[in-house]
Amino acid sequence: MFDLKVATDKLFRGNRDLASNVVKILEVLWGKVRKKIDKVKIMNFCGTHEWTTTHHGLRSLLPEGLELVAGPGCPVCITPSYYVEVAIKLALENVKVYTYGDAYKLPAVKKVDGAKSLAEAKSLGGNVSVVYSLLDAVKDARESKRESAFFAIGFETTYPIYASTILKNLPENFTFIICGRLTPPAAEYVVKNVGGIDGVIAPGHVSTIIGGKSWKFLAENYNIPTVVSGFEPMDVLISVVEILRQISESRAEVVIEYTRAVSWEGNVLAKKMILDVFDVCDATWRGIGLIPSSGYRLKEKYMNLDAFNVYGFKEPNSKEWSSDLLPGCRCGEVILGKIKPIDCPLFLKKCTPSAPYGPCMVSLEGTCSIWARFGRR
Ligand code: SF4
Repeated sequence: MFDLKVATDKLFRGNRDLASNVVKILEVLWGKVRKKIDKVKIMNFCGTHEWTTTHHGLRSLLPEGLELVAGPGCPVCITPSYYVEVAIKLALENVKVYTYGDAYKLPAVKKVDGAKSLAEAKSLGGNVSVVYSLLDAVKDARESKRESAFFAIGFETTYPIYASTILKNLPENFTFIICGRLTPPAAEYVVKNVGGIDGVIAPGHVSTIIGGKSWKFLAENYNIPTVVSGFEPMDVLISVVEILRQISESRAEVVIEYTRAVSWEGNVLAKKMILDVFDVCDATWRGIGLIPSSGYRLKEKYMNLDAFNVYGFKEPNSKEWSSDLLPGCRCGEVILGKIKPIDCPLFLKKCTPSAPYGPCMVSLEGTCSIWARFGRR
């Protein structure tokens, strides 16, 4: 007879054996790598990888000198303050602003009519609605017939649903605050401008859309071993092992570890749909500044859906607006892997998950938020 407890126990023991074998292999490879270099820094680009790493205490399994740092892969963290300010302004002018829950408390740099987040705008009587999906927002806007704007933050994973919804019939009262960002240009920015990165764990979710081949430039142009990884603790450990193996053999290539979801080409249909609706443009990342070809904007024929166009906002001049963090917040350095959240003097003092001061403390995928909740284990 099937016994769930016995089965779970076996599975757990099986995973534990597998994990200890992987750690043994990792130590052997580390010994080989140490003959060439003293220190290795691997960037896990994606916020969900940082969650797995910190929540499961994976850093405690790594030998001294092998560092796993977080990257800029949290869409809430890098959404520029200006877009939050536009969303607040619209909400306070009674345009119904739909947002996902993780951007609800995202703080802006400047207060807009007394509010510095959508949560505060709502408490001041602003029209803000937290939704689980874009389709819920469209349905609500269709029924209410009120002027509406969807706060469309996200990476390549989120944009196919925006594109497919736009290609269908949207109600005339519906617009988008477009703040989509592309991840490979940000990874290139980090390796070019920050340096010191010896390996990259590339984002698995994003790569289901853009495919493993989108990371080829890291290996070919920058000689950086790159592994597209899944999100279980074992996925991350196996990815670290593969990066060490490549370093020990003095080679660099892209390997897809997350084969259960990611292919080399990605989702061709989804990619085409995105490019039917959006153009790629230069875009600013909060705490970093302008990154060439790293953003989406609606094509000219869809300008009637663009909240900036409909309500008369201008895209900010990126040269005047490269740093949009509040005084003392060091999120820019956190998302570039230069410092750890605990190096910020405001961490768990002026800045906490219940009262976030900086953008990395807001979302469940934000590095500071993850460290605040799980980093002390
Ligand atoms: S602890 Fe807060 S203020 Fe400091 S870097 Fe993180 S989010 Fe920014």
